[in-house]
Amino acid sequence: MGEHDATSTMRIDIRPDFLGQSLARKRQEAPAGASPRDTSYLVLEDAARHRSSEFRKLLESIYDAVLVADSKGRIVDFNSRASEFFACPPAQLGGMNVLGFISGADGSLLATIHRNLEQHRYTLIEAHCLRVDTSTFPAEIAVNRVDLDEQSQLCFLVRDISVRKRAQEALEDAVRRLAEHDRARSEFVSHVSHELRTPLTSMIYGIANLLRGVGGTLPPEVRRYVELLEGDSKRLLGTVNDILDLRQAEMKTLKLVKSRVPLARLVQRGVDVLRVQAESKGVGLEVAAKAAQRFVDCDAHKMERVVLNIVGNAVKFTGKGGMIDVTVEDDPQAAGRVRFVVRDNGVGIPPEAVGRVMEMYFTVGEQASGSGLGLAISRQIVELHGGTIDIASPPPGREKGTEVRVGLPAAEPPCVLVVEDRPDVSGVLAGQIARHGYRVVEAGSAAAALAALDREHPGAVVLDLVLPDMAGRDLILKMKADKSTSRIPLVVVTGADVDARTARVLDGFSIPALGKPWGEEVLMDHIEGTFMGTARLGV
Ligand code: ADP
Repeated sequence: MGEHDATSTMRIDIRPDFLGQSLARKRQEAPAGASPRDTSYLVLEDAARHRSSEFRKLLESIYDAVLVADSKGRIVDFNSRASEFFACPPAQLGGMNVLGFISGADGSLLATIHRNLEQHRYTLIEAHCLRVDTSTFPAEIAVNRVDLDEQSQLCFLVRDISVRKRAQEALEDAVRRLAEHDRARSEFVSHVSHELRTPLTSMIYGIANLLRGVGGTLPPEVRRYVELLEGDSKRLLGTVNDILDLRQAEMKTLKLVKSRVPLARLVQRGVDVLRVQAESKGVGLEVAAKAAQRFVDCDAHKMERVVLNIVGNAVKFTGKGGMIDVTVEDDPQAAGRVRFVVRDNGVGIPPEAVGRVMEMYFTVGEQASGSGLGLAISRQIVELHGGTIDIASPPPGREKGTEVRVGLPAAEPPCVLVVEDRPDVSGVLAGQIARHGYRVVEAGSAAAALAALDREHPGAVVLDLVLPDMAGRDLILKMKADKSTSRIPLVVVTGADVDARTARVLDGFSIPALGKPWGEEVLMDHIEGTFMGTARLGV
């Protein structure tokens, strides 16, 4: 039995203007010689009779069953709905106790009702009501005080809620079955995906080896087919990974491997992957990095998938001659946040679907061309990074197309340590790296480098192989031998020839080496590659 309190009181009043009008009429009708006292007695009696008939009309017009009871619950009045509801003849209903009609009710219910009334509250009860024939129906009962004939009585308004209850139960049942269905489907899909991942990975490995020429040079025709195979199997692996990531996100077990990443470069990298696809469709694709020097703490692989999904959609849903603009900028609405915005002038999303495109498996009618998972996993990934993703179609101020905005918390720039004994060269290197937003620390010797490693905890080290106090190769080995520095990525910039022993060290630790003079682009590619991880997501 549910019970609620609500603050309100209900009173039935005789309206003063009714009494006034009635009194005036009776005075006119009074027989000559009648004392004023007699007249007022008649009027009051009449008023009482009139009130009683008005009250009865009101009682009978009420949709609910009404039971008026004394303070102990004995029924003193009721409407015909009440005898209908409780399948009880009117002659029997009067005098029975209300509590007998409410399943599970006892004296404590009356005590609660009286306590609530003292605090000017009425009592709401949800319970099963008992009919005289012992059948039951669910009901909502509101109990309040009603002052009739100067006697305080309890008024029970009983509403039959069988239809609502049945609908509610059917709805709850449908939701339960749907959730079960959904869980079974998602389990099945993730199981199949698991099964697919291993053979797909070995297929991609085999294809990559064929393309590398391990089985000899491939004839151009064969190469073309193998490249197609490579593209398709990588795309399939991408979908399989989306499905598995979504499942993990649902189970709250999706793990992020975060590093501090230059957002503009990450976005650019994703866009570059899709450039050929856009060009072959005749769609323009441009990136404007207004916040080129902003960093975010993110799982670069997963965030690159977000970029690929969103820009990939823009390419997919924009026709020949269309245009896609990608902007990386400080979020104008939120300090300390950066965002990338992908805006296309393609087919757009129908207004009724805009709010649903980030749901799992949701695709829009005739435009549907994928698994409907891309935006769902993108949202999960972005939200796990403390970010937001918003979609507008058409973009504000435009007539057609779609705009997707991904906002992320900005992070402080990471530190790059430049180890170079020649101040002029060190200065140029530092200048170039700082121009891309990094904090640069310079060290002119191996000793200074070791001290800086300890003090600054750099995210990457750019290193000359010739140092005054130690060979660059030995500094590398020292760093790799120390747990606190062994994982810091290194880029070598050297003017000297690399001897065989050094080459083996560089090769063994996969350290890129640039000759002097180096190109700024190549240098930055290597440094930023170290921050983002070099492995690419295949699309
Ligand atoms: P899919 O893998 O099917 O593209 P998504 O989750 O990425 O799934 O997108 C869901 C749906 O949202 C798509 O089927 C498409 O109808 C719509 N959509 C997403 N991006 C765009 C866009 N840039 N232009 C038009 N429609 C889009």
